[in-house]
Amino acid sequence: MERKLPEGVKAALIDMDGVLYDSMPFHAASWHRLFTELGVTTSRPEEYYLYEGMKGSDTIGMILKRELGRETTQEERDAIYHQKTELFKHCGEAPMMTGAKDMLEGLRKLGIDTVLVTGSAQGSLLDGLDRDYPGFFPRHKRVTALDVNNGKPHPDPYLKGLQKAGVKPEEAIVIENAPLGVRSGKAAGLFTIAVTTGPIPAEAFEKEGADLIFPNMTSFAEWINNI
Ligand code: CA
Repeated sequence: MERKLPEGVKAALIDMDGVLYDSMPFHAASWHRLFTELGVTTSRPEEYYLYEGMKGSDTIGMILKRELGRETTQEERDAIYHQKTELFKHCGEAPMMTGAKDMLEGLRKLGIDTVLVTGSAQGSLLDGLDRDYPGFFPRHKRVTALDVNNGKPHPDPYLKGLQKAGVKPEEAIVIENAPLGVRSGKAAGLFTIAVTTGPIPAEAFEKEGADLIFPNMTSFAEWINNI
């Protein structure tokens, strides 16, 4: 398959966890610990890669309902999510994803603007963006869990990203590492690139309709820099 970017791309809407930071192993470990503490005996760290991209409070509501038959209020989910962000912070600093900076610089060389679109509200990561990726994600070019009611896999986060980028759908691309993130990008009608930085096989991304799939960030960055 010959890989091609659509003509006239002006903006890239870029996910954070598993794209800019190699943070998913820490997130999976934090979720596992959180749910084990809440009495969910079936919890396995691997499971949480499947929900990657969802808002944390949505994941909490879904799992407590499924495993404990328990309804939760938004207030309760927010409080539990706060515990999860604390557990995540204690994992230490998530490393930057190898190749992510090269990828951003390659996009810039092509004249493509960058906008962050994340389901996260993890302050410790969001605060690090200016330090780790200076100039790429100014505050007005970020969509976080706090900006939308319906998180991924709904199209809303990427539609909001499109607004912040100020471009038409055919002028934007999405860069994602999670199947639900790809679903969200495609639901927004956008050309969606999957970079499989975690344990989920490429087939899962094909199923969601990813337009291009790369096996890791380094190979994607190399491709972008050679366009
Ligand atoms: Ca992600």
